[in-house]
Amino acid sequence: MQTDMPNVVTRFAPSPTGFLHIGGARTALYNWLFARHHGGKFLLRIEDTDRKRSTDAAIDAILHGMKWLGLDWDGDAISQFARAERHREVALEMLARGKAYRCYASPEELTEAREAARAAGVNFRGDLWRDREDAPANQPYSIRIKMPREGDVTLNDDVQGAVTVKNAELDDMIILRSDGTPTYMLAVVVDDHDMGVTHIIRGDDHLNNAFRQYQIYAAMDWALPSFAHIPLIHGPDGKKLSKRHGALGVEAYEEMGFLPEAMRNYLLRLGWSHGDDEIIPTEQAIEWFTLATVGRGPARFDFDKLDSLNSHYIRATESEKLLSIIQSELENSVGHKLDETEAARIVRGLPALAERAKRLPELVESASLFCNTRPLVLTESAANQVTGDAVAVLGSAANALEAITEWTAPVIKAAITSFAEAEDLKLGKVMQPIRAAVTGGKQSGDLVETLEILGQGEVIGRLRDRVAA
Ligand code: GLU
Repeated sequence: MQTDMPNVVTRFAPSPTGFLHIGGARTALYNWLFARHHGGKFLLRIEDTDRKRSTDAAIDAILHGMKWLGLDWDGDAISQFARAERHREVALEMLARGKAYRCYASPEELTEAREAARAAGVNFRGDLWRDREDAPANQPYSIRIKMPREGDVTLNDDVQGAVTVKNAELDDMIILRSDGTPTYMLAVVVDDHDMGVTHIIRGDDHLNNAFRQYQIYAAMDWALPSFAHIPLIHGPDGKKLSKRHGALGVEAYEEMGFLPEAMRNYLLRLGWSHGDDEIIPTEQAIEWFTLATVGRGPARFDFDKLDSLNSHYIRATESEKLLSIIQSELENSVGHKLDETEAARIVRGLPALAERAKRLPELVESASLFCNTRPLVLTESAANQVTGDAVAVLGSAANALEAITEWTAPVIKAAITSFAEAEDLKLGKVMQPIRAAVTGGKQSGDLVETLEILGQGEVIGRLRDRVAA
């Protein structure tokens, strides 16, 4: 925690119109890290003002995704819709301050004016009623902001640097619709102000909005927060992120078997750097995170990198935790409840299995090799290795292994070696069918070690199952 910037408040403000996608998750992470780094607050605001597109299912997906990623927010999640009355109040206050005006234009009139502006090659400003005084009585109206026409505004964005926009480019946008509902542009500013947000960190698709929002802060004499607009995430080909490239909901990554800590590390590096460091656990990320090293160019999504981080975090996870993941996965997917022997075997085999697994399903699949599931179902390529002569080899190898009185890796190894010598077979010719028969083609570590972990009875049983098959 650093104290150079006291009272930092950040927020994540998703619109619940779909799942928590990967770009949103990264925005949430950066806001969370920034707040935690400065010992500040991280707030969550659900921007559910658009009643037609907001759904409860999407809210659930967002909350679930945030929890899964371990991004805890301070206080309760705030509903933007619930604050509509306050938004109206501010629109009226802007009216009273002469910073906004009532617009009585009909949709047809607006369309006409828009087309006329286009034909004349000028910006459409929506300002039909800006200077009119002849307000009709009892007519519905919207409230529009009175944008300054002169000058320009420069925002010193913490990521983009100084960005300047001419005020003349901005239209007199609606802040309150004729049905009394606030627009997004108004609601965001009022909420950020009321929530005491000091730093707005979000995707750079909102950069243009910042200049329009600036005018609402100015009209209300409110302190302006800092802005940081992060470049969006692109696909590996540099194009807009598509589903195939990873533009999926966070829950899809959970289902694919990524660990939340790997996801956090990956999203952190996707647009932010600390020298050449790739593996940055969350505690370290909190200590290091600043906006100074957010990249200015779009980040490229890369599944291989995510896989390699995931495999790192799988290896770094304690056996007990991995065991419980495997346990519940096996129960949920195939209804298999691990007994004590199986669980103990898995714990012993885990270091080697974790070495090879990129995603959790692979780990679960390879761990299932330690379950008592005879007769084992072999993969096609494993089955091809236990035909013809290999079957006879398995039969005699089973006898040789059965004679072992001390079932340890060195003794097993010596027994297989002397069996191969006695039969005048290359070691590989013995090991290969044993591996196929005992592992069924599943990934495993060192074969002899796997045999030791499985235990004599189970190994002999699996070998004889193949002979009998
Ligand atoms: N609700 C907006 C979105 O989901 C974000 C608004 C903001 O961060 O200012 O894109």
